[in-house]
Amino acid sequence: MMMQTPLTMTQMIKRAEKFFPKKQVISRTTKGIKRFTYKEIAERTRRLADSLQKLGVERGDRVGTLAWNTHRHLEAYFAIPCSGAVLHTINIRLAPQHISYIINHAEDKVLLIDSDILPLIEAIKDHIPTVKAFVIMTDEDELPETTLSPVYHYEELISKGSNDYEYPDDIDENAPAGMCYTSATTGNPKGVVYTHRSTVLHSMALGMVDSAGVSEKDIALPVVPMFHVNAWGLPFAGVWFGTTLVMPGAYFTPKILAELIEQEKVTMTAGVPTIWLGLLKELEANEYDLSSLRYILCGGSAAPKSMIKAFEQKYKIPFIHAYGMTETSPLVVISNLKSYQEELSDEEKLEYKAKQGVLVPGLEMKVVGKDGEVAWDGKEMGELAIRGPWIASEYYKDERTADAFRDGWLYTGDVVTVDEEGFMKIVDRTKDLIKSGGEWISSVDLENALMAHEAIFEAAVIAVPHEQWQERPIACVVLKENAQATKEELIEFLKPQFAKWWLPDDILFMDEIPKTSVGKFLKRALRDQVQEQIQQ
Ligand code: ADP
Repeated sequence: MMMQTPLTMTQMIKRAEKFFPKKQVISRTTKGIKRFTYKEIAERTRRLADSLQKLGVERGDRVGTLAWNTHRHLEAYFAIPCSGAVLHTINIRLAPQHISYIINHAEDKVLLIDSDILPLIEAIKDHIPTVKAFVIMTDEDELPETTLSPVYHYEELISKGSNDYEYPDDIDENAPAGMCYTSATTGNPKGVVYTHRSTVLHSMALGMVDSAGVSEKDIALPVVPMFHVNAWGLPFAGVWFGTTLVMPGAYFTPKILAELIEQEKVTMTAGVPTIWLGLLKELEANEYDLSSLRYILCGGSAAPKSMIKAFEQKYKIPFIHAYGMTETSPLVVISNLKSYQEELSDEEKLEYKAKQGVLVPGLEMKVVGKDGEVAWDGKEMGELAIRGPWIASEYYKDERTADAFRDGWLYTGDVVTVDEEGFMKIVDRTKDLIKSGGEWISSVDLENALMAHEAIFEAAVIAVPHEQWQERPIACVVLKENAQATKEELIEFLKPQFAKWWLPDDILFMDEIPKTSVGKFLKRALRDQVQEQIQQ
């Protein structure tokens, strides 16, 4: 038999301090780039934990953060769970009524807020009665003016906290460590609670060489916000492994991102496709040396094949596609080629890389169609269901749990195919699939094809109601600057790639495609917009 030592997050920060005290966290602040060693970060984290306790935070209490990717947010990432409380990262891009809903639903006791985000909380301060204290994170010595009360200066809490503070050693590995709300199509956001154990195991998965292979040798730049699925768990894994972390801070542009990667010799970075489309545009306009990059990790929505091709073939930057959800911590599948697939032609390799990939060790998946599990032939579609130790088993105090969690599986709401090699491909979200004459059309496939056209910057395809066919696809496209294309030309471009009935009935040219708080196409809003346009 083996020991049953608890998998708690305390071991992560302790390991960074003990074994990697000289390694660095590099933070882009309003006062320029600041460098902290893990020794300093670990000490500041301990002091913060002590101060939070003195503010009245007890075991199991929720502490909310409204913050960018900074060294301070990283400290909160450990101080809160390691002292037994629950780190509730709040998506600052949600609508104010949703932000107050989730603060109330989680019953946050204290909020840690980046100073530029203050107005957002000031506007809802009278509607969040559970919050007893506001801690302001600022690069300035003085607290900014605010209508919030009582307020504390983060750095003052750090200086007053004791460095002798010790994390409790009796935290249950199944105790809640963090929580995150995911936007629902309709209604309020849904809460997911991560445990210490799930966080430790998910971090381990990020370190496996056949998944993201995050290691001590990496200089990792999480672009994906820390308020969105914990920046995909990179801060946790990074600290545990002694990885150099580069925190991009607030309001960065593609130019700033490219400069950061170049200057800090970043080896891996992670974010949603919108970010990489922006970076690509920047690389086309200006010269950078990004040869330090081992790979770019991309997920959150489908990475267009044309974009993967540009990074890999034109800029020689390996590009890895992955899939996950807030409910799954998030890593589920990742598109690493198998050893024998490396022999394939560039075009064939690209086909696989554009799929979301292969299940990471530790999880189980199945694909369920109307008549049970579908064949793994790359053609039959079904809904992806997942289970495993870093997959949520319910939504936090929410009746909608029964919709998604059934028989011990999480039903993802994503329609997928799996090919003979086990590579999963997202066809669509169930709600975005276009059902034309009883057959399904994948909006994602049409979008990918359109985005490969040289004049197109972005494309989103949606269903519009149709008398005869129930639904028909309409494409909304944004052209690149100074580029031109006609509707007929684009349809001609699609023709050789799709069956005739898949071709969009119309192509609408737009200045911009509405996006969600995390940069995904907001198809709900787009559908309304198009509907209005059609009726006019
Ligand atoms: P939301 O966007 O609903 O707030 P999440 O960020 O948790 O919440 O989104 C998870 C969803 O994002 C998945 O169910 C899937 O539809 C989509 N998604 C994630 N990664 C990919 C990917 N690589 N390709 C296509 N879709 C993806």
